[in-house]
Amino acid sequence: MSQPRRLSAGSGVTPARFFSQFNIAFGLMSIIPMLIFCYLLTVKFVTVSLLEGFNGVYLLLAVVFAFLGLVAGRQTIRHIIERLVETNAKLERLNNQQAAFVSNVAHEFRSPLTVITGAMDNLADGLHGQLTEDQREAVAMCQRESHRLKRLVGDLLDVARIEAGKVRLVQEQVVLQDLLHATAQLFSERLKTQGLSLALELPEAPAIVLGDRDRLQQVFVNLLGNAAKFTKEGGLRVRLARDGDAYQVEVADTGPGIAPEDLERIFDKFERVGSQAEEGSGLGLPIAKDLVELHHGRLWAESQRGQGSRFFVRLLKAGNRAGGVPNVPA
Ligand code: ADP
Repeated sequence: MSQPRRLSAGSGVTPARFFSQFNIAFGLMSIIPMLIFCYLLTVKFVTVSLLEGFNGVYLLLAVVFAFLGLVAGRQTIRHIIERLVETNAKLERLNNQQAAFVSNVAHEFRSPLTVITGAMDNLADGLHGQLTEDQREAVAMCQRESHRLKRLVGDLLDVARIEAGKVRLVQEQVVLQDLLHATAQLFSERLKTQGLSLALELPEAPAIVLGDRDRLQQVFVNLLGNAAKFTKEGGLRVRLARDGDAYQVEVADTGPGIAPEDLERIFDKFERVGSQAEEGSGLGLPIAKDLVELHHGRLWAESQRGQGSRFFVRLLKAGNRAGGVPNVPA
């Protein structure tokens, strides 16, 4: 979710500063035709006859029109820029209002959802007595849906925090092999049930990066979760390799693949491509990309329709990054 540069306080370019820069630039731009004009007048055509009679009038009129054109052009451009700045500020306000609204709603949803999922779990565990088959089915359905809502609310809150620059990142040494093992472990049962294989190709030497273990795990959980979700046969492969001053993790699957024209789109919020038969909010990948970028890394995908997908995460080796990861209080 890369944000466009904005003409506003906070982006470092305020409208007033922008206009003073515009005035200077326009002034400088006007110097060039002025110098050419003076050059032609004094060096090339400096004969008294040029300024006499009709020639003089034409020349004067040409200068006046050129000057008026310059002033009118300047006014027009200034007017267009003013409108753009105004519209930009308005859009930014609307965007902030929308983000605040989504964040507030998600906050309000969180507590009741926790109560509902807790109550449903208790019911399913038989804490309030044995359930009949029908009751068990109904409770299981409510459990599934309430957990899905909880995940969506969590994603919305993550998006809001990231956009507000309020993600708290712990800085610690993370051994990627451990992290990938632990993440793969989370999926082993599910993959077995689905009849999918999981291959881990990890080098012996510890691959250490500096970052927030939980947030990095969230990234790989999303990638493996998607791979497991979209792959119907075959399997997943997680490969870790050193690449110069960085480590590269590849999560590959034998799923349906993604059309080349959709490869960038899947990293935009709420974008879902393909059949969309699977559950999902379209927020997992944008969050994962932002989290990787907060670690000064890169996340991208390579795929062809019908040929599986490969997602890559590139993270700098510990000690190769100036300034560490941003650590902003929530
Ligand atoms: P979600 O999976 O919740 O819909 P994501 O942001 O994680 O949201 O993914 C966005 C979209 O990218 C998915 O809906 C799917 O269309 C596509 N996608 C992501 N990972 C894969 C994959 N491994 N194979 C095929 N399509 C994928």
